Amino acid sequence: MRAYDIIDKKKRGEELSAEEIKFFTRGYLSGEIPDYQVSALLMAICLKGMTTAETVSLTEEITSSGDSLDLSMLGDRTVDKHSTGGVGDKTTLVIAPIVAASGGVVAKMSGRGLGHTGGTVDKLESFPGFRTTLTEGEFIEQTKKIALAVVGQSGELAPLDKKLYALRDVTATVDSIPLIASSIMGKKLACGSRSIVLDVKYGSGAFMKDAESAYALGKLMVDIGRARGRNMAALITDMDTPLGRAVGNIPEVKEAIALLSGEDIPDLYEVCISLAAAMLSLSLGIDEPDAAQRCREAVESGRALAKLEEWISAQGGDGSCVRDVSRLPRAKREHIVYSVSEGYVEKMNAEKIGLVCCSLGAGRRSKDDGIDYTAGLTMLKKTGEYVKEGEPLAILYTSGDADLEILEREYIGALVIGDKPKKNPLIAGRII
Ligand code: URA
Repeated sequence: MRAYDIIDKKKRGEELSAEEIKFFTRGYLSGEIPDYQVSALLMAICLKGMTTAETVSLTEEITSSGDSLDLSMLGDRTVDKHSTGGVGDKTTLVIAPIVAASGGVVAKMSGRGLGHTGGTVDKLESFPGFRTTLTEGEFIEQTKKIALAVVGQSGELAPLDKKLYALRDVTATVDSIPLIASSIMGKKLACGSRSIVLDVKYGSGAFMKDAESAYALGKLMVDIGRARGRNMAALITDMDTPLGRAVGNIPEVKEAIALLSGEDIPDLYEVCISLAAAMLSLSLGIDEPDAAQRCREAVESGRALAKLEEWISAQGGDGSCVRDVSRLPRAKREHIVYSVSEGYVEKMNAEKIGLVCCSLGAGRRSKDDGIDYTAGLTMLKKTGEYVKEGEPLAILYTSGDADLEILEREYIGALVIGDKPKKNPLIAGRII
């Protein structure tokens, strides 16, 4: 077998066999196949696509390239959730305690934020003392005890994906549905849960700009998971507008706590209950309306909030912040953004809002940057809402020296104010 022939075959749009994919990816990991040949294959895949069988084979290579977690000792109720990334996406902080308080078992690895999107690990580290690195033994013990543990991704997880992603990032080959699907599922399958629910985002703040491509990505990932024997479901959710009203680490933590304490945050509640219900339904093998009812009860009874506190304390964090959010660090500077026009918020560019947040100090431009946990913003007016000239549109927070006048202009530039209220469906599709 020669790397050249495999590249040529894909260039002509033919299907690669599992053996050819194995030869190529293992050769890349061992250093026998150089970056330039892998780049050529990635570009051919971007242009010609891959069949489901090819994508399953590539996913298997990614999963088996590193460590895999064996969660079988936790029984068959283990359930994971993956979001394809967004702005203001604090759903894990809400959903994980709801599911764990309702009979599911959540043993999860999460990522850090990069660029305009936030990451669960950073949000969790906003709780003073919270440890996102546990030994495998601690992770399993905690899950056995409280049905919930979330850690950062270990360095040994899916090294093939790390190498491929770094190359895709510099060769304009990130935006390929089969490459994204195998990258995400390759890692998720290594994390070991029996059931997996995918939150596939669409819109300006997401990888997939429209609901149709998000559906195609979701369907492919569900097919891969099922081919590997997992229970799978996916929801296609809106990321044209950031979720909830808060963006940034501590602002989002506070909003998640507010929701679990009973505050009415309709879009966040709807997405969280739908995802949690899908997780619980797969985990317990019950139907979705029953699962949704149990999830709502977990919130209304306060059991989910108590589970959040238990979880934060179990991982070394200051759980008392859950009952008293004033214990969380506060931003040193706040700045109100006033509207310069009147009308309905027709559109919010979630990516631009995420970038404003990043400039306030909440995110990283490169993976080694530090972050300001207090930084972020509150959106006082969201898509579909009416604003008068001079009314407050948003509040910006930072503890750093960001130029708030510039960021105010950038925030205003991320909004379209007009005369037609316009909103995408929050949940545009379900793959169950
Ligand atoms: N997230 C991933 O993990 N991989 C991709 O390719 C895209 C998004």
